[in-house]
Amino acid sequence: MIYLDYNATTPMDPRVLEAMQPYFLKSYGNAASRHHQLGQEAKAAVEKAREQVAQLLNADPREIIWTSGATEANNLALQGVAHAEAYRRKGRHLITVRTEHPAVLDPCRFLETEGFEVTYLPVDREGRLDLDQLAESLRPDTLLVSIMAANNEIGVLHPVKVIGALCRNQGILFHSDATQALGKEPLDVQTNALDLVSFSGHKMYAPKGVGGLYVRRRNPRVRLQPQLHGGGHERGWRSGTLNVPGIVGLGMAAELFSKERENEQSRSTGLCDRLEAGLHQQVSDCQVNGGRAPRLTNTSNMSFAGCDAEALLRRLPKLAASTASACTTAALQPSHVLGAMGIDDQEIQGSVRFSLGRFSTEAEIDQALNQIVKAVHLERESPSAPQC
Ligand code: PMP
Repeated sequence: MIYLDYNATTPMDPRVLEAMQPYFLKSYGNAASRHHQLGQEAKAAVEKAREQVAQLLNADPREIIWTSGATEANNLALQGVAHAEAYRRKGRHLITVRTEHPAVLDPCRFLETEGFEVTYLPVDREGRLDLDQLAESLRPDTLLVSIMAANNEIGVLHPVKVIGALCRNQGILFHSDATQALGKEPLDVQTNALDLVSFSGHKMYAPKGVGGLYVRRRNPRVRLQPQLHGGGHERGWRSGTLNVPGIVGLGMAAELFSKERENEQSRSTGLCDRLEAGLHQQVSDCQVNGGRAPRLTNTSNMSFAGCDAEALLRRLPKLAASTASACTTAALQPSHVLGAMGIDDQEIQGSVRFSLGRFSTEAEIDQALNQIVKAVHLERESPSAPQC
C-alpha cells in the first residue's frame, strides 16, 4: 500500500510508540493520584510532554491544555470564549472563514442558534483570504477571530502573522486551528500574536484521541468557560482523567518536530514537487487546487478533468488518498472547501487529495505516479458507471 493520506491521519512514529510503552504496563498510574509513586510518575510524564509541546509553540507549559483531539480543542476555544463570563459585555460577534474544518464551522453554527453572530469570510479561487475584508469585518463587539493556519484539503496557508497583528491591535482574541500546520510549519505563538491554538496527535505521528489547546496566560490572559465539568483536571478547564500514554506520545512527537521539522519540510517539498511535476507532464488537463497560494509542502489537491475521483480511487486499490477531507466524505457532499473557492461541482468531483509525510519515499512517489497516470487514462477512455 502506498500511503498518501497523511492529512487524514499519520502512522505513528516508532520513537513515539517507544516513549509511550512504559505508561501502559509499568507507570500506569492516574496522573491525578498524588499520593503514590505510580501517580507521580504519570504526572511527571504529562508535565514533560507539556514542556515538549510548549517548546514547539514557543509557549509556557502552563498554557497547554490536553484534550481528546482538535475537534474538542476547537469547541473549547470557540464555545469557551463565547460563553466566558469575562467577555459577556464585549459582544457576540465572531469571524471565521468558509473553508474551515467542520470542527470550527459546526460550533460556529451552534453559537448562532444561541444568538451569536458569525461572519464567514469568503476565499478566492486559490483559497486565499482577502485581508482588507478581514480588517473591515473587525468590530468593537468582535469577541474572537478563528482562522486555520493550514487547510486540511488544499494545504493553503493563511498569513497567521498578519492576522494576529490585526487582531492584537484591536484587542480581539485570535484562535487558529493548527491541526495540519503544527510540526509542518514553524508556529510561534509570540511572533504570530496567537491567543488560542488547536492541535491533534494523530496528524503529528502520535496516536488518535489526544490533542490540545494552547491558551494564552498573559498579554492578554484568555478566559474560557469549561465545556466539560467534573474532577477539575487541567486547572478546571478540561475535566477528565488524562490519557497519559497518548500525551507522552504527543510530547515526543512535538520534540521530534522541534529537531527535525526543517529537514522534513525540505524533503516533503521535493517529493510533492516530483508528484506534481510528473502528473503535469504525463496527464493533460490536470491542475493543483490552490496551486498559486502559499501551501503546506506535503499536500497536493489535484483536479483531473473528465474523471470521477471516487472511480479513480477505485482503480487505485494499492494507493491511499482522499477525494475530499475524510470527515466530509462521510456526509457524501461535494467539498465545501473547493466549493468556497468557486470550483464547479464537476471539477470538484474530479479532485483527489494526495498528502505525503515522514515515511513517504521517492520510489513510492514514482510508483504512485505510474499508477495514477494509468488510472486517469483508463478512466477517461472508459468512464466507470456511477456507484450511487
Ligand atoms: N481541524 C482540522 C484542520 C483537521 O484536519 C482535523 C482532522 N481532520 C480536525 C480539526 C479534527 O481533529 P481531530 O480528529 O483530532 O478531532
